[in-house]
Formats: sequence, structure tokens, C-alpha cells
Amino acid sequence: MSSGILSRRFVFSGGRVIDPAAGVDAVRDVVVADGVVAGPEAAEGAERIDARGLVIGPGLVDLHTHLREPGDEHKETVATGTRAAALGGYTAVAAMANTRPVADNAAVIQAVRDLATAAGLCDVFPVGATTRGLGGEVLAEMGEMVAAGVRVFSDDGLPVPTARLLRNALLYVRAFGDDVVIAEHAEDGSLVEGGHMHEGIRSASLGLAGRPSEAEEIVVARDLALARATGGRLHLCHLSSARAVELVRRAKEEGVRVTAEVTPHHLTFTDEDLLTYDTNRKVNPPLRSAEDRDALRRGLADGTIDAVATDHAPHAVEEKDAEFDLAPPGTIGLETALGAVITALVEPGHVSLSRAIEAMSTTPARILGAGEHGGPIAPGSPANLVVFDPEQERVVEPPFASKARNSAFLGRRLRGAVLYTVLRGDLVVAEGKPTR
Ligand SMILES: [Zn+2]
Repeated sequence: MSSGILSRRFVFSGGRVIDPAAGVDAVRDVVVADGVVAGPEAAEGAERIDARGLVIGPGLVDLHTHLREPGDEHKETVATGTRAAALGGYTAVAAMANTRPVADNAAVIQAVRDLATAAGLCDVFPVGATTRGLGGEVLAEMGEMVAAGVRVFSDDGLPVPTARLLRNALLYVRAFGDDVVIAEHAEDGSLVEGGHMHEGIRSASLGLAGRPSEAEEIVVARDLALARATGGRLHLCHLSSARAVELVRRAKEEGVRVTAEVTPHHLTFTDEDLLTYDTNRKVNPPLRSAEDRDALRRGLADGTIDAVATDHAPHAVEEKDAEFDLAPPGTIGLETALGAVITALVEPGHVSLSRAIEAMSTTPARILGAGEHGGPIAPGSPANLVVFDPEQERVVEPPFASKARNSAFLGRRLRGAVLYTVLRGDLVVAEGKPTR
């Protein structure tokens, strides 16, 4: 690779631009100059990158990433997690608050941001904890964190435990205006305690305690009722069950201010994929039945589910190398999300490539309030872009840029390979490799 490719002025020529924010799906050149998308007049003399056969989209945006720093740097750091994000085509990620210490105050929020700025690979939007220390007893210093730029609050890993506390949180965010949202991990603790997979025929035959769909359904119903009553904005993390999708569909019809996300692994796998006791497929909420997975796919296709989010959850090798009931839940996802969505949804015709990019970039950017991301790819806009080959196939295997290797997709062949990621005009990934 010539060093010229790192110049501040270049043009992706002849690629298929898919830009849902502008309603564009057409072959055209995209010129980048001095950090922004430029008009064709800036193309003269610029470095040309052949993008024929490639798709150019707005950089992907993840609503749900666990970067583990501070506190669990043996699993992941902001630097390694954002490198994984960039390689996966992401230009912005929301970093969950369940770090040690918990991100429940402006100082931790700023520390995470500073680490991301130093790494320079992907924008990080820290999520603030809804309750102090994730303790579920009193609300965190939300006002202080909003003043520090936080727009999403979540106790992810746990739901807000009582209806009264969640109601207060929703009333509080409503007072901040339209751009602040409570993101909920919807699982009833009393029903999932001690459980390790979806409760059903498979859990019975494998001899593992279950986590029933009702655990999700009950909390989703409670949360929707409170969002309806308060007018506060609610976002539901990683939906996994058909009935939860149906509850969200009905709530949206009523005008409740709710958005929802689904993960690539819940769109791909079912509890049948646990027959080998693969701990990398032990996730919370658990992989459920084929009917549930199909309902998630339909929900994403018809817009009931707004976004695809990774729930990137890195763990050390020795932590996952344990008996199924002892291994911690979670799969990494940033480096495989686009390929997983293309393979499970676009390739079989469940959703269009344009809808996939909308759900992985345009819409999550809007939910997150990340105005510089998600397109449009128009002159003057910050150049945050992903360029990928929608046909190239790769088998998922280490090494990963993530410090972890606990991927539910290990050994799977995925279609779609990220070749370039552009962050504010800088090629942070070129020819499929990180540049820094
Ligand atoms: Zn969660």
C-alpha cells in the first residue's frame, strides 16, 4: 500500500452508494477532502481508490458495546475494542456503563472518552448508568452526566428492578427533552436466576436450567406501560422473543416512544445451536426457538425493531473455557456483525441491503444522537464511511482485533468483508487492515 492512500484527499470511484438517510442507492464516486465529503470538483488530483463492485455506506453505529475499561482490561480495552469496531466498519459505538468503576458519573464518562480519543479509531459515546453503581436503588447523577454529553442511560446486564424507579427515570429523561433515552435490559431476575439457556425442550434434554421467554415479555410489558404513562423515551436492548416483538409492534401503533434493537446472534442462531455446549453461544438473553428467531427477522424487516446492535461482550479465553453452567454469558460481535447480517438476512432475501445499512447505521445514529454519523453522504458532511465487498466470503477465526476470541460465529462462513473505514476523513482501515 502506498503511503499516498493515507492522504487527506481521496475518491472512492465507481462504488454502489447506499445512503438511507438520503434515499440514495446508486453507483457514483464519493470524494473525501479534509475530513468531509466533498463535491466532484475536489476529485481532481485526489488519490483514486477503485470501489467497483463495492458498497459505500455511512459508517456503522453500534448502540451496544461492552469495552470493559475501566476495570476489566484483561477482557478488552477501549483501544482494542475500538480497533475491532473500526475493522467491523463502525465509526461510532455506545459503550455500556457496567465497568469497574461503573460509569455513573461525569468523571468516568470523560475518562472513557479520553481513552477513545487517544486511540483515534472510532467515536465512543459512553452510556451512563441509570442507577448509582448499577445498584438498582437510587438514580445515578443523570443531570451531571447529561451536562457531560450523555444521551443514553442503561443498567445493561440488569433491568431497572422496580417499576417505581424506572418511572422516575423515564420522567427524569423526559424533562431533558427529546434526545435522552433509557435503554433497558429486559429480563425478570426472579425468572432467570440460575438459568443458562432458553427454557424449553432443548434445555430439558441438555439438562440445563432455563431462562424462559416470559422473563423478557414481563419486563418489556412493564417498561412499555411506563413509557406510555410518562412519555419518556425507552429503548429496549437485544430483543430475543416473538412475544416481545409483538408487544413492541402494538406499542408503536399506539404511539409509545419506544425503539428496539436485536443482535446478529439472535438473528442467526437458535437453542438448537447449543447442542454441543458451545460456551461462546451462551448469551443473555439466551438464543431461543426458530419461531422466535424468525419473528425477530420479520420485526427487523418491517421496522418494529429499529436497529441491529452487537452486544459485543468480550471475555478472556480462560473464563469461557469452562463448563457451560459456569461460563460467563456473551459473545464478541463488532468484527462479524455486518457479515452476519448479510449472511442471515440479506442473502436469503429477508431484508434489503439498504434496510440492513439503515438498521446498522442511519437509525442507531439517530437513536444515539450521533449527528455526525449515519449519513447523509453529502458534500459538507463529516466523512464517516464504510466500504465493503458484499460478495467476499470469510471464515470467522482468530486472530481478532478484539482482545477476546469468544465469538458465537467461530468457524462460520460469512459473506461481506469490510475493506475501508473512514473516520472524519481518515482511513482508519484500508484494504481490510487497520492503519494505526
Ligand atoms: Zn444486556
